[in-house]
Amino acid sequence: MKSGSKKDEGGCVKCGTCNTVCPVYLTTGNEVHTPRGKQHLGSRLHKGERSAHYADIFSKCLLCGACLEVCPRSLDTPQLVVDVRSEPSKISGLSFFKYVSRKALVHPLLFSSLSKVGTTAHNLLGGFLPKESGLRLRLLGFEKGVLQLPAVSYLTKVKNDLSAEKEQQVEKHTPEKQVHEVNYFTGCLANHLQPEIAESTQFLTSKTTGSKACVPLEQTCCGMAAMAAGRPDETLDLAKRNIRVFEENELPILTSCSSCYYQLKTYNELFADDPEWQGRARNFTERLQEFSTFFLRKFSESKELITGSNKSSGMKVFYHDPCHLRFKLHITEEPRQLLSLFQGIDLQELEGGPQCCGQGGLFQVAHPDLALQVWERLMEGYGALSANTVVTACSGCLLQWQLGLETGESNGEAKHLAVFIAQLMQ
Ligand code: SF4
Ligand code: SF4
Repeated sequence: MKSGSKKDEGGCVKCGTCNTVCPVYLTTGNEVHTPRGKQHLGSRLHKGERSAHYADIFSKCLLCGACLEVCPRSLDTPQLVVDVRSEPSKISGLSFFKYVSRKALVHPLLFSSLSKVGTTAHNLLGGFLPKESGLRLRLLGFEKGVLQLPAVSYLTKVKNDLSAEKEQQVEKHTPEKQVHEVNYFTGCLANHLQPEIAESTQFLTSKTTGSKACVPLEQTCCGMAAMAAGRPDETLDLAKRNIRVFEENELPILTSCSSCYYQLKTYNELFADDPEWQGRARNFTERLQEFSTFFLRKFSESKELITGSNKSSGMKVFYHDPCHLRFKLHITEEPRQLLSLFQGIDLQELEGGPQCCGQGGLFQVAHPDLALQVWERLMEGYGALSANTVVTACSGCLLQWQLGLETGESNGEAKHLAVFIAQLMQ
C-alpha cells in the first residue's frame, strides 16, 4: 500500500496524471469519470447538492488503486469513493448498495444475464449463499456456465470430514491431534462455488509443510464487497468475526484469494481508533500470508518437489495481475517467479503491460456495459498472445476471465493459481 496516502483537502492540482491510468476514463474518454473529476466533486460540492447523478459518477470506479499509485499528491481517490458510497442519506436518500441493486434490476444487459442464469441465480442469491457473502453482489451479472454449484460448501465438507474422523478415533480409541503449520482463510469463491481452489491449496500446503492447513469453521466473508458497496458497519462486523475466529491459535493465516488478502490486511486500519480491537486486528494482519509469496518461499526451499513435473513444458501461460496486488501491495514478481519455477513454461505478457479486467469495486454489477468495454480493451492485448491458459489468484478476476473466455471470442481457459500448480504436480 502506498504510504502517506491522504484524502483531498483541496489538494488536487489538476495535473491529470491519474487520468492516464484510470481504466474507466481510458474506456469512456469522459472527464466526468476521471479520478481528478471525483476529487473535484468530492471537495467542492456541498453535501446538500449531491444528486443521483453524483451517485452515478461515484459508482463508476473499480477501486483498482491505479490513480493513487501515480498521484504526485498521494490523493486517495479510491478511499474517497468508498467514503462517498457510505453516505446513504446524502445521495438523494439512496445508498450505494440500494443504487447498485436498483441498477441491477433495471439494466437490460444485466437483466438478460440474470434471466439466462434463471433458477441457478435465484438459488444462489435466495438460498445457497449466506447473507453475509460478498459473492451475492458479485454474482448478479454472471452467466449460467460459470455457476456450477458444488453439493456442499468447502467449509461444510471440512466440518463433515472432521466429525467422521472424530467418530473413527473414538471407535478405535486412538485420539490424534493433527499438527498444522498454517491456517487457511478460504474466501467466498473457494468456499461456496469453486471448492477445487480450496482443495488445491490444501494439496500444496500438505506437500510443502507436511500437513494440511487448519481451517477455522466459523470464518466468514472478508468484507470486500460490503466495503465497496458503502456498508461500513457490515464491513466491521465481518472483520470482528474473522479476527475472533482466527484467535483460536497463533498460526500464520494463508489465503488463496488476492482480494481477500488485501481486504484482510486493511483490518489493521479499520480498527486504528478502536482501543478494544486495535491490538487484535494488528495481530491478525501480521499473521497474514499472501498466496504466491508463501508458496514461492516454500517451493524455493524444496525445489525437489517440482523437478519431477514435466507437464509444464511448452505451456503458454498468461498471468493476470489482480489490481489489489499490483497497485496496492506491489506483489507482481512473486506469482511470476512461482510459475517460472516450473520447467519450460512460456510466460507471456501484454505488450502495454498489465491491464484491469473490469471486475473491481462492484463495477461489473453496477455497470456491466462499461465493465464489458474495460474487458474488451484487455482482450485486444490478450488476443495478440498465443497463451491458452490464464492464471490468476483473485476471485473476482478469475470469475471475470472464466465468464469472458466462455462467452467471448478469445481462446483459452482461466484457472486459479492454486488449481493450475496442483494439476502440474498431480
Ligand atoms: S480507483 Fe481505478 S477506477 Fe477508480 S478512479 Fe482510481 S484509477 Fe479510476
Ligand atoms: S494525479 Fe492527483 S493531483 Fe493530479 S489530477 Fe489526479 S488526483 Fe489531482
